[in-house]
Amino acid sequence: MDFIVEVSARHVHLTQEHVEALFGEGHELTFDRPLSQPGQFLSKEKVTIKNGERKIERVSILGPVRKASQVEISKTDCVGLRAEAFIRESGDLEGTAPIEIEGPEGSITLPEGLIIAKRHIHMTPETAAEAGVKDKDVVSVAVDTDGRKTIFGDVVVRVSEKFALAMHIDTDEANGANVPRNGCQGRIIDIEF
Ligand SMILES: [Zn+2]
Repeated sequence: MDFIVEVSARHVHLTQEHVEALFGEGHELTFDRPLSQPGQFLSKEKVTIKNGERKIERVSILGPVRKASQVEISKTDCVGLRAEAFIRESGDLEGTAPIEIEGPEGSITLPEGLIIAKRHIHMTPETAAEAGVKDKDVVSVAVDTDGRKTIFGDVVVRVSEKFALAMHIDTDEANGANVPRNGCQGRIIDIEF
């Protein structure tokens, strides 16, 4: 089974409370364009993320708002920010590093929530059954890219009725494997290493 491997650039997820702290009371995220996962969207708002004196500007915010705020960056971003981030699944924030977020109307400090997202495949239950995998399985995925064919291990399978079939990697992983910005095809392969 082939599926699209999409490249996730650095981004932020925010609670409604934090949207208002950064953009003003009563502010709601503005829809810019839809993402592949049903209901998810890129917002028009941008923020700056900061670690002490180091910062990255114009970081995207993905909507809709969530129950907890988190910042997903690449390992390269971590080096630039002099920040330590752990490779975690989205939402698994306990014990992760702090990060400051600055908006036009205010700033917040997350005591934890800075992560490098663990690569993963979103699947519906039907697709998972067809592929012979289940939620939380860890698989390997091959990508046949121009000049840099790569096998990604440690890919987590995430299954939900709400998902659309797609694998997500970050910009470091994409660049390392020469995956174009608009993605490439991937397939699960039976290999242990
Ligand atoms: Zn994803």
